[in-house]
Amino acid sequence: MSAPTLPSMPATTAFDRRALADFRSLAGRIDGNGPRYTSYPTADRFEAEMDDARYLAALDACRADSPAPLSLYLHIPFCENICYYCGCNKIITKDHARSARYVDYLAREMAMVAGRLGERRAVMQSHWGGGTPTFLDPDEMRRVMAALTQHFHLLPDGEHAIEIDPRRVTDARMALLAELGFNRISLGVQDFDLKVQQAIHRVQSYEETRDVVLAARRLGFRSVSMDLIYGLPHQTTERFAATIDRVLTLRPDRLSVYSYAHLPHVFKPQRRIDEAALPPAGEKLDILVSTIEHLTAAGYVYIGMDHFALPDDDLAIAQQAGRLQRNFQGYATHAGHDQLGFGVSAIGAVAGHYVQNARTTDEYYAALDEGRLPVARGFGMSVDDHLRKTIIGALMCHGTLDIAAVEAGHGIDFARTFAPELAGLDALATEGLLRRDASRIDITPLGRLLVRRVAMVFDRYLRQDAGREVPLVRYSRVV
Ligand code: SF4
Repeated sequence: MSAPTLPSMPATTAFDRRALADFRSLAGRIDGNGPRYTSYPTADRFEAEMDDARYLAALDACRADSPAPLSLYLHIPFCENICYYCGCNKIITKDHARSARYVDYLAREMAMVAGRLGERRAVMQSHWGGGTPTFLDPDEMRRVMAALTQHFHLLPDGEHAIEIDPRRVTDARMALLAELGFNRISLGVQDFDLKVQQAIHRVQSYEETRDVVLAARRLGFRSVSMDLIYGLPHQTTERFAATIDRVLTLRPDRLSVYSYAHLPHVFKPQRRIDEAALPPAGEKLDILVSTIEHLTAAGYVYIGMDHFALPDDDLAIAQQAGRLQRNFQGYATHAGHDQLGFGVSAIGAVAGHYVQNARTTDEYYAALDEGRLPVARGFGMSVDDHLRKTIIGALMCHGTLDIAAVEAGHGIDFARTFAPELAGLDALATEGLLRRDASRIDITPLGRLLVRRVAMVFDRYLRQDAGREVPLVRYSRVV
């Protein structure tokens, strides 16, 4: 469907102090944790029934949509060292022969997918993630990029990003990334405090990070993004504020400040983290609140959830213009396209289908050796899923929902279709998270800090898990 016209969101850099105080006092009453909604339905709902035949049919539908540009995600799973907090799908190895083989298979997967699409499609947004994409040596990087550009046309005015481990990147490597056409870099930092770094097994000096940022500026990269994590062992409000001060000397265009989720039963490396050194819940909350105050006072726009951007960055501009969207990398400016995922565990979104590749290299290689696309699971979206995805996306990206636009776009009576959800919203409205009337839902500054909680009201699958009856929307005029 064409996106409804959305009111612009003010690019405020001074966060509402009252909202932060209310946020603190709500702690314990409302749990702000929940899905990040990088997709809806969320990836934990994907099913094994999605096989390569269904993916091929989705690619055929995507082919019919030509010449619409595409997004691409490439997963490079290798890392030389383990970070104890890690929850990514990665392979820890110092054996670089493993990546040489992986690159061959990546090129084969690209050839199969592109062959089905029939022509060299334009790509508006590409992202290399991992693992550590810069684990690849220069020759391997050139081979991957050569395969990409053989099959796809990477638009020069598009966003072409790569995740970088500053501990492994020299000036020469940065120059190579620029030469290959990357215009955005994303740096893992997490924390500059040495005691924290030692506890998470990721010692990375400020100077290493600074040198990469300076090289990126010299080489004309359009955007530098940094990832931090709060809730790590030995962090305190004061110590994390010192890290933020050092980050601010580098003035990244975008910042993601993620909450550490300690789940050692799910992520084995986390068993090496000393639980006794983790900040208690109250301290963790204080770190978050103080970070939001600190960054917004320094001129950053709070985009939402864990993202901040300078006012002249594309992300802040897109939000102000009502063009912001969600994709698997979080908030994005070019997320409205079909996305192809390449490599182990990569997720794509093609013609109303989510597709996720096999998690292990053995399974991935075996499928490609048999001439099959290495799809392991996925999800075919229903009319109901499309509708709820639109609503959740609007709330998370724009902080508002134009009910009349949704009714007109989807041919539904909102109040009748979502009667139980509206009752759920009213409970959150009494806590001050939103305001609503018959024509719109508006998230308050407090609600922006807890927006996942608001979005969860519209998550059909969570409601079903809670044993609530949810009538399915079967007809929608446009999806
Ligand atoms: S956090 Fe990143 S660099 Fe560290 S082990 Fe995980 S994927 Fe590798």
